[in-house]
Amino acid sequence: MKTVYLDNAATTKIAPEVLEAMMPFLTGSYGNPSSFHSFGSSQMEAIETARGQVARLLGAKSEEIYFTSGGTESDNHALRGAVKIDNTRSGIVISAVEHPAVLDTARTLAKEGCPLEIAAVDANGELNLSNLQELVNTETAIVSIMAANNETGVVMPLKESAEIAHRSGALFHTDAVQMVGKVPMDVHSLGIDMLSLSAHKLHGPKGVGAIYIRKGIQLPPVLTGGHQEKGFRSGTYNTPGIAGLGKAAELALTHLDDTAVKERALREAFEKKVVENCPGSFIVSEKAVHRLPGTVTIIFKGIESEAVLTLLDMQGVYASSGSACSTGSKNSSHVLTAMGVDFNLSNSALRFSLSRYTTEEELDHTVKLLASIVERLRRISPYTE
Ligand code: PLP
Repeated sequence: MKTVYLDNAATTKIAPEVLEAMMPFLTGSYGNPSSFHSFGSSQMEAIETARGQVARLLGAKSEEIYFTSGGTESDNHALRGAVKIDNTRSGIVISAVEHPAVLDTARTLAKEGCPLEIAAVDANGELNLSNLQELVNTETAIVSIMAANNETGVVMPLKESAEIAHRSGALFHTDAVQMVGKVPMDVHSLGIDMLSLSAHKLHGPKGVGAIYIRKGIQLPPVLTGGHQEKGFRSGTYNTPGIAGLGKAAELALTHLDDTAVKERALREAFEKKVVENCPGSFIVSEKAVHRLPGTVTIIFKGIESEAVLTLLDMQGVYASSGSACSTGSKNSSHVLTAMGVDFNLSNSALRFSLSRYTTEEELDHTVKLLASIVERLRRISPYTE
């Protein structure tokens, strides 16, 4: 059976070049980079190469990159560290559509006494900047606004949000897990103080990521131990993972412009064909000013998304009903709820996310399947406007 993978916002396949870069450290070169002997310490070179590769992708300096176990850990470092820097500032301001790695961390810190404010988004999923402005004050330690949303693909106004944070003396963090490697980013010109990224979203391995911390910011460590990463993030280096992340970052930078153009064209054509062939379907955040090239959520009115997903799965097409990280919970998407989408509609939402490996043929095949699945389900449960 032909398989089509359209869940790249959940995770991506490892690029062959990435696997090749990791292999030496999964086989013969297994020394500990922190060891005194050369068998181990020579691995530091691979780690520093990867640091440079990640820094180049972000327009950062190498010394501003710290390796972590992924996006969730990086987000935790940013929030948990920021509220400890200055004891006159413990406030946290985030958007209503953050990933649980930020949302739940912020809520946990709120229970521990850090005042939490949540900025609204509009019906397109775009951040309400004047609301953000109202919520930030001189007690705010950190403003954390995601770079692009994992469900809708809506790109957030990072420069403007960073300016709001800085005007009140707060730090600005962005969870850029969905954005890094998809569109060009320059942390310095955007005014970003901290940024989280994850290798497995850009054709790298799972369980490794990084946090960019602007030079001069003294973020207290969350993990203590063996003093790796200048004492900021203890724990034996995941050398294969880090080498893989570095290579994935290098490849993403090489393909950046081509991928964005190709994915955007494919995604737009896909959206048009789905809407034409599946009556009662519409694109979420269609009117948003900026969206990621390859992510779209589509609502099929009156149809349970799980039913469509199951039937697609049986035909070898893999998509998602929103954020994979929250699958299993019966709650509807907090992102769609924040946008004012009603409960029934949000249970009819499917996310399709492309990668640089996605082809037009795969998408056309998916449209055909979707059209027949939607028609079949509507026969059982007719939909009226
Ligand atoms: N932030 C966003 C926006 C994500 O989409 C994800 C994963 O889906 C994460 C954070 C978590 O990253 P990781 O899986 O590397 O912990």
